[in-house]
Amino acid sequence: MQTKPALDALSAYKPGKPLEEVRRELGLEKIYKLASNENPFGTSKAVTKLLKAGDIDLSYYPDGAGRILREAIAAFHDVPTNQILLGSGLDDVIQIISRAVLTPGDTIIEAAPTFSQYSLHATIEGAETIRIPVDEATGTSDLAAMANAVNARTKIIWLCNPNNPTGTISSQAEVLTLLEAVPKNVLVISDEAYFEYATSEDYPDTLALLDRFPNLIIMRTFSKIYGLAGLRIGYAIIPEALQDAFNIVRLPFNTSSIAQSAAIAALNDQHFVDTCVQANSAGLQQWYEFLNQRGLSYYKSDANFIFFNAERDATELFNQLLQKGYIVRAGLKPNWLRITIGSKSENQGCIQALASILDNE
Ligand SMILES: *Cc1c(COP(=O)(O)O)cnc(C)c1O
Repeated sequence: MQTKPALDALSAYKPGKPLEEVRRELGLEKIYKLASNENPFGTSKAVTKLLKAGDIDLSYYPDGAGRILREAIAAFHDVPTNQILLGSGLDDVIQIISRAVLTPGDTIIEAAPTFSQYSLHATIEGAETIRIPVDEATGTSDLAAMANAVNARTKIIWLCNPNNPTGTISSQAEVLTLLEAVPKNVLVISDEAYFEYATSEDYPDTLALLDRFPNLIIMRTFSKIYGLAGLRIGYAIIPEALQDAFNIVRLPFNTSSIAQSAAIAALNDQHFVDTCVQANSAGLQQWYEFLNQRGLSYYKSDANFIFFNAERDATELFNQLLQKGYIVRAGLKPNWLRITIGSKSENQGCIQALASILDNE
């Protein structure tokens, strides 16, 4: 049997083992997952209450248009409802856009390192990925080089901002310069999965640029600060002209009834978001202090994770931390680890675990 040749170069995403299984195998009392940038504080109480009430009728298909949630998101951002595209997480949105836009021979441009899904879907569609390395010292994406890399076959520039895994941002001025430089037939997609966590003054307000740039798409998710990664719900703010194409490609019921209702409740609780942002900033400080003390270099993060140079084999360090109950993320750059900012005690625990490993070398 023959599958499409583009798949030959790819391998399937390897999910981690269920946490309970890891815990039992290692004989640990508790496991702390600091690998996927989930919210250590769970989700809004309004969401938990809604889910506990359990009165969402699951025998009917969800509203395929997700109208009420899309209206809520549109009102929240003050944009027209038909500019909101829902996805089963941003992973789904990335797939929808790639499928609708890319054909074999096209190119996409992205930072290196960045979120893996952009390139995965490009490859599946037969498109090529042009990777522009981040600045080694600061970790920031090189938007000027990204603009320069545009050629006649370029369809999409993926701007992950804050960037995963570096945690760094591109400024309003940099994003504006890029948008002004690239032709209007090239989509510039700002993946703002960590938008709420960004506290830097010059973090861009891309919503304000939508009117000027019909080739700009903004993506946000309920998986990260809203604490709903398990429900799979995210969205993009898209140009009106692309609505039809994206809706053709989108599965008719791509977001569930539960996810739609929970997302509305989550959006309505901005107080929860604010408290998580504050806790995250404090958590980043815990890590900065430790890394400074140790003289280990890191990138300044505007997200809910820290990416640092451990100066030793990251896979080995990953395994040593796992033995102590902390699941982190290696494999993104040799010798570097990405660790999610947890609660204060989780951060303390992970820092202590790491310190004891380093001290015992
Ligand atoms: C986590 C993440 C996403 C995907 O989030 P979903 O759970 O699919 O909404 C998208 N982009 C980046 C940069 C991420 O880190």
